[in-house]
Amino acid sequence: MSIKENLEKINSEISETCKSCKRNSTEIKLVAVSKFHPLEKIEEAISAGQLLFGENRVQEAKEKFTQISLKYPNVDLHIIGSLQRNKVKDAVKIASCIESVDRLELLDEIEKQCSKIDKKIDVLLEVHTGEESKSGFLDFTSLEQAVCALAENKYPHVNVRGLMTMAPFTEDESLIRKSFSTTKKYLEDLKSKYPALNLTELSMGMSNDFKIAIEEGSTMIRVGTSIFGAREY
Ligand SMILES: *Cc1c(COP(=O)(O)O)cnc(C)c1O
Repeated sequence: MSIKENLEKINSEISETCKSCKRNSTEIKLVAVSKFHPLEKIEEAISAGQLLFGENRVQEAKEKFTQISLKYPNVDLHIIGSLQRNKVKDAVKIASCIESVDRLELLDEIEKQCSKIDKKIDVLLEVHTGEESKSGFLDFTSLEQAVCALAENKYPHVNVRGLMTMAPFTEDESLIRKSFSTTKKYLEDLKSKYPALNLTELSMGMSNDFKIAIEEGSTMIRVGTSIFGAREY
């Protein structure tokens, strides 16, 4: 199937899943994960109407999306992979959102680099809920420390929008569901403790588990393989 057909299929699966769990499909943003795929495939997705993309490596993202953003100024990029401090400078230039903030030190660097270019950036805090990802805040306490610092406005160029997680890679649906429901619970707890923050987003769900994620409250799904096909590493 073509990228266009894959996108149509996923968008209709999003609609069906929302219908069955009584959600509005306009609540769900589809992030097309284009890592390891060439520019031409990204352009194919753009011509099919997809304007939001995710990449997990800054160097690769920079090479592709510097060009893309010149040609298609309304295309948005999220960084979704674990980020080294020395990559933050480039990351904040090309992305509208860093979904994978997993430690306080990274917020310091994001603030520093964004203030230099006078840019306000969205971030999500990554929660570690499965062994699939090595990164992420390990528990509610460490997560709340970061949220607290954000609520105290220590990072005026950083707009925290919610949480992100990667479920464990397993056949056991209950474990996947638990990863998502834990993250949702964390968001709800943080929302009620920090009502001044604009915490609305939950980035959860990939090609294999996005339907479960939507049922558990996801607002952002990150889909690569089901759109672009298998990656060649
Ligand atoms: C690669 C990646 C995805 C997409 O995974 P697929 O299984 O190809 O849909 C989603 N989230 C993150 C953080 C990734 O690194």
